[in-house]
Amino acid sequence: MHYSADVIIVGSGIGGLTAAALLQERGFTTLTIEKNMYPGGSCASFRRKGYTFDVGASVFYGFSDNDDHGTLNLHSRIFRRLGLSVATIADPVQIHYHLPNGLDVPVYYRQQAFLTELKRHFPHESGGIDRFYRELESVYEILSALPAGSLEDIVHIAKVGGTHFGKTIALALKTLKSMGRTARKYIRDPELLRFIDIESYSWAVQDAVSTPLVNAGICLADRHHGGINYPLGGSGAIPAALCEGIEKFGGKILYNSEVQEIIVRNGKAEGVRLSGGEELLSKAVISNATIWDTCNRLLKDPRYRIAEERFLRAPSWFQMYLGVDAGVVPEGFHVHHVMVDDWQRYDQPGGTIYFSAPSILDPSLAPEGRHVIHAFVTDESSRWSHLDRGDVSYRKAKEDFAGSLLRRTEKILPGLSDAVELSVLATPLTHERYLNRFRGSYGPLLHPGQNVLLKPQNRTAVKNLYAAGDSTFPGQGVIAVTYSGVSCASYIARSLGNPLEYL
Ligand SMILES: Cc1cc2nc3c(=O)[nH]c(=O)nc-3n(C[C@H](O)[C@H](O)[C@H](O)COP(=O)(O)OP(=O)(O)OC[C@H]3O[C@@H](n4cnc5c(N)ncnc54)[C@H](O)[C@@H]3O)c2cc1C
Repeated sequence: MHYSADVIIVGSGIGGLTAAALLQERGFTTLTIEKNMYPGGSCASFRRKGYTFDVGASVFYGFSDNDDHGTLNLHSRIFRRLGLSVATIADPVQIHYHLPNGLDVPVYYRQQAFLTELKRHFPHESGGIDRFYRELESVYEILSALPAGSLEDIVHIAKVGGTHFGKTIALALKTLKSMGRTARKYIRDPELLRFIDIESYSWAVQDAVSTPLVNAGICLADRHHGGINYPLGGSGAIPAALCEGIEKFGGKILYNSEVQEIIVRNGKAEGVRLSGGEELLSKAVISNATIWDTCNRLLKDPRYRIAEERFLRAPSWFQMYLGVDAGVVPEGFHVHHVMVDDWQRYDQPGGTIYFSAPSILDPSLAPEGRHVIHAFVTDESSRWSHLDRGDVSYRKAKEDFAGSLLRRTEKILPGLSDAVELSVLATPLTHERYLNRFRGSYGPLLHPGQNVLLKPQNRTAVKNLYAAGDSTFPGQGVIAVTYSGVSCASYIARSLGNPLEYL
């Protein structure tokens, strides 16, 4: 059989690129196939009229160079392994929350400063606040001491269990807990519990009770250790560096090429068929598409289909990429903001506004005297699917919705509507079309109370077909899909007889 590569990767999201880079560096040949003309998926950047916008992600973990705390420090470790570096700028505030009833809380890098701020609003819950955030720290301490690897790799699990027995058991017990139920052990004030909900919703798009404690232990603790660091030049600097690593070790990336089918013969994945009909064969295939797209579009055999409702489908997004007059952004304005006007609606489409202005940290993203702003809300493709994308009614609906969001955003940035010089609007249909994501969804979520270990891992029902990205454990977010890429590469490397060394 003529193989195009040992491993073919469908999609150049961060999960796929991470797996490709680590396998290629280990000596396997890889071919990454991307339908767009640029890499990165939801973590790409695009340029328009002198502005550089982040397609999706702007808040980044995993760039600390402190080696005492490691597992969560994956970007630094991977780039070191690849012999590359990505310059970043430290952000002193993870998110500035603007919530109902005047609850205004910046989450500072320094945890004490953040907790002091929170206690200023809830002095009667001071002890509960300390105990809850201390519990998240304890999860973080366990996770950051364990090496990253595949939970399906028995040799890895035996090694970690043998050398870190106590921590492995403690972690297994913590996977049974939810963030919200843990909060309710220590905290009574309903307003503060709402704050804990938005702390969860802002990255997990679920309330705290539905969110596993283990995931919270990463996002809400690491921000005070490794911190939040923005890549110089925009989010696209991360996929660009991963591609440089792949190519440096001889790997290939094919752009503008869409995989139409994952070829399966006798129950084994043997390669892919491109939309032009060309067949490319490999020993293993990694799908970086969502679980719905992999099982219901790329695999043609109905035996591999999954029901849409097997997982909760996270919503999609309505996004505004704005170029604005810098005069509207006051001195000292923080980079990332989350706004809620009404607690009854925070988890409904459009209920929570996410807002980032990364050119505050990196002025190279905007022309002189301008800023880039990315403001977005959750949305559903069903609200837009009746409109024809080429039609004036679609454009008008987008502009009307954007206008209403801009007016709400003026609460934190008065005059914003008048300061807009460039506006690029994207609906769930855009998200679905550009990234091949089923209904433009942010990805599958666990049902409330489900153990985090029930998330799909890297193996699939088809032999030699693997998955990496936000449909797999641990879930959404750039650092999470990086972990999934590491664990996917580790599992494949061991199966093909040349295990990866720990990062
Ligand atoms: C609006 C928004 C804001 C976000 N903010 C943050 C944030 O601040 N911090 C954070 O950590 N995370 C954030 N995220 C989440 C994070 O960006 C994603 O979880 C992560 O980037 C997803 O990576 P992935 O590997 O799953 O692949 P994706 O990003 O989904 O990329 C998959 C790639 O595969 C390609 N592809 C799919 N099917 C095919 C095919 N058949 N043939 C060829 N190519 C194909 C697609 O074109 C795409 O390039 C945000 C996401 C969004 C949408």
